[in-house]
Amino acid sequence: MRLWVLLFIVSFVTACSHTRPAGQSVSTPSQSQRQNLSAEVFIQAGHEGRSKGKLGARSVYGREINWTPIVADAATHYLRRAGISVIRANANWKPKTRTQLALFIHFDGIAGDPCRTGASIGYDDASDRPAAQAWKRLYSQYFHYRWRKDNFTKNLSQYYMFKRTHTRDAELVLELGAIGCPQQALWLRPRLQKIGQLVAYFAANRLGYYNRVPKPQM
Ligand SMILES: [Zn+2]
Repeated sequence: MRLWVLLFIVSFVTACSHTRPAGQSVSTPSQSQRQNLSAEVFIQAGHEGRSKGKLGARSVYGREINWTPIVADAATHYLRRAGISVIRANANWKPKTRTQLALFIHFDGIAGDPCRTGASIGYDDASDRPAAQAWKRLYSQYFHYRWRKDNFTKNLSQYYMFKRTHTRDAELVLELGAIGCPQQALWLRPRLQKIGQLVAYFAANRLGYYNRVPKPQM
């Protein structure tokens, strides 16, 4: 009889010690959630998903909020087809992520003379610069219009998503051109998907996956 009591106590204590860690795990992300928050590449379409606040630049040629998802979707398509994992986010993304590379897609707009602006790159520290320079070299082979210097506005160097993306290689705001400048906008508009492919080509190469994404013809 005493043995049964002892066994009961032992099994009760064992059960308690097993349930406690399981209970604690509720407050931390499950393994599947953690896996969702890490990927090789993070791609955000700037302004996408917003109905108020910063809705992006617009002109007679188009709206930034409509153009950024086209580029981001094409980039995601080419990367995933190449077996590279992607978190595809809109402007309202909240969780913190861990990736090799984070790319935030934008087009620039400016009042007055819209051709005063063009393509540019934003980042928050010098560790991002090699990737920024590589993107500028690559995109310049296609985009033959104006470039502004890196981080020429505060919004570029202090982009809100930098706080949520933890990257091994770089986190870059890619301003892909001036949406209000006729020459740039008319070059950009029919090439948004190709530019997305170029973003994918760039990302794959940064990760060391050469030849997985074909370099686009534009
Ligand atoms: Zn923007």
